[in-house]
Amino acid sequence: MKIDNTFGIDAQCRELITYDSEQTLREALARIHSVHKGLPLLHIGSGSNLLFLSDYSGIVLKSCIKGIRLLEETADSVLVEVGSGETCDDFIAEAIRRGWYGMENLSLIPGQIGAAAVQNIGAYGVEACDVIDKVQGISLTDGTTHTWTYAECKYGYRQSIFKEELWGKYAITRVTFRLSRHFVPKLQYGGLMKAIEQAGLSESTLTAEQLRQIIIGIRRAKLPDPAVQGNAGSFFKNPVVAREKAEQLLSEYPDMPHYPAGEGWTKLAAGWLIEKAGWKGRSLGQAAVHDRQALVLVNKGGATGKDIQRLCEAVRKDVATQFGIELSPEVNLIDNWTIGQSDN
Ligand SMILES: Cc1cc2nc3c(=O)[nH]c(=O)nc-3n(C[C@H](O)[C@H](O)[C@H](O)COP(=O)(O)OP(=O)(O)OC[C@H]3O[C@@H](n4cnc5c(N)ncnc54)[C@H](O)[C@@H]3O)c2cc1C
Repeated sequence: MKIDNTFGIDAQCRELITYDSEQTLREALARIHSVHKGLPLLHIGSGSNLLFLSDYSGIVLKSCIKGIRLLEETADSVLVEVGSGETCDDFIAEAIRRGWYGMENLSLIPGQIGAAAVQNIGAYGVEACDVIDKVQGISLTDGTTHTWTYAECKYGYRQSIFKEELWGKYAITRVTFRLSRHFVPKLQYGGLMKAIEQAGLSESTLTAEQLRQIIIGIRRAKLPDPAVQGNAGSFFKNPVVAREKAEQLLSEYPDMPHYPAGEGWTKLAAGWLIEKAGWKGRSLGQAAVHDRQALVLVNKGGATGKDIQRLCEAVRKDVATQFGIELSPEVNLIDNWTIGQSDN
């Protein structure tokens, strides 16, 4: 069975199982553990951050749990529970319509709500964890329900407990967000201020919907559309290095973009490093570094997961040689043996 993924990689799995409630997920798990005992098990969302290195020999699960439920409302905030199978951007649009704010800067990031909580998606100075209150999931081993508080999710830059020690162990079923009832635009990042001025708008009268549309416009102009050219957004994480390392690089490359990342740490722009290493717009076979955004690897048509991986390794090698920095992929590389193994 074909697995949809925005990289456009032709990848098959033995069976793709969708579920629309906790009950149907438990029934599916019971069947998997009796009929397909021992096969690898992988939970996906809409496939916008996955790179399949080969066909997947096991079972793939996907959430179709829908629903937006208002749990609590005060003069200042709301607590809202959202099904993991909701499309993240649809929820953001709906939240703005209902006057619930805090996620505008995440507009147009592809993917489902469940994955947003796993990945801790982020853009323009906002991360999902800024508004997540708790996360609910079901054990893929025994079907029991678990709830993680914000602190228990161990969020970091594109990181969470679900990508580390709980990797492959739970299906995220619902995510609860704490959103504000007052719109306070966050405009310090990614040229938002300039784009707002260019649109003839001003910070003091800006609405959440206007900010959303500005962000959608910037993203459409900057990032390749996966429907046209396969990709998974930023392929690499922006590296966070010790301040001394950043200072050493800055003495050689004074124009290098750099951002404070907590006491003693500096975040660098992976796209800039890749461009300086000479990879922007270059190809290896049908895999290429995008010609406008060096952080994005693209499938020019017919590339395999291994082709993209080869390009990834070539880029990493040159960046390491030139700058002494190890880039880590943000995209989840999926092969049969390293991940997704169920406990059974
Ligand atoms: C054009 C483009 C632009 C992008 N821009 C951004 C951006 O600005 N910022 C950003 O952070 N990301 C960005 N991304 C990456 C991607 O949108 C996010 O990582 C998103 O959260 C992936 O969602 P998904 O539903 O497609 O999950 P998938 O890619 O299918 O899965 C991602 C991970 O989550 C796990 N997972 C998914 N659903 C569940 C669940 N219910 N239970 C348990 N595990 C689950 C999977 O196992 C996998 O590890 C971009 C991608 C593209 C293609």
